[in-house]
Amino acid sequence: MSDLAGKVAVVTGGTRGIGFATAGLLAQAGATVVITGRDRETAEKRAAELGEHVHGVALDVADSAAIKDVFKAVAKEHGRIDVLVASAGVLEGGLIGMLTDDHVSKTLTTNVAGSINSVQAAARAMMRKRTGSIVLIGSIVGERGNAGQMVYAASKAALVAAAKSAAKELGRHGIRVNAVAPGVIATDLISEQSDEVLERIKGDTALGRLGTAEEVAKVIRFLVSDDASFVTGQVLGIDGGLVL
Ligand code: NDP
Repeated sequence: MSDLAGKVAVVTGGTRGIGFATAGLLAQAGATVVITGRDRETAEKRAAELGEHVHGVALDVADSAAIKDVFKAVAKEHGRIDVLVASAGVLEGGLIGMLTDDHVSKTLTTNVAGSINSVQAAARAMMRKRTGSIVLIGSIVGERGNAGQMVYAASKAALVAAAKSAAKELGRHGIRVNAVAPGVIATDLISEQSDEVLERIKGDTALGRLGTAEEVAKVIRFLVSDDASFVTGQVLGIDGGLVL
């Protein structure tokens, strides 16, 4: 198990799914973890489920000023930020002919601006200590595209470019930035997909099944740990062979 003792991690979108599973593994590895979600009560309740070293804070990542405030408060209270996992994200399908301004704006603001602003806020704290590790969550559809997901796929492709650019810029400050590109993972995010679509996806996946949040979390734990100390600017696929 990776040793994250003494490290402070922020996991946006840590109340559910991939973020929640990641927060649990980082806490098990010894980190103090701050999970965020839009509702304070939910964030605090979910944090309590993960133990005394996990704290829940309200943060809507669509609010750039709130991101600055929350990261500043975390750095002040815990003395540092070593790890950022930017897992907050939304998936709303939308055929091109049906897209609305609200859909485009919500997806890009939450997924892209939310992650980019979180990187900026975390990097400010990390630069002071000249160490840090950041993971952004892309998606297999960011590379391959998907009918009915033009905006979501674009948002995920943007995060890969963001991770690579941030890796180049922040490397000299001792900060690593990577992305993961999950395939289809059984979380709330895909709850609206029909059984027929999910069966088709399983059939297209070499391993013949969907992934679990824990399987993504284990890879993220590796990426933020010192075991990955010379890994930066990479996109790690976690898709059971769906991309093949
Ligand atoms: P879930 O729907 O299970 O969880 C989403 C998380 O994001 C929740 O914790 C939610 O918190 C949070 N969230 C949503 N909107 C906001 C917001 N505006 N501000 C703050 N937090 C927000 O999704 P997953 O765990 O599956 O997804 C996590 C990431 O992984 C996303 O970026 C997604 O795009 C990506 N991904 C997921 C895949 C999958 O198949 N599941 C595949 C590829 C990528 P709350 O509701 O408490 O506010």
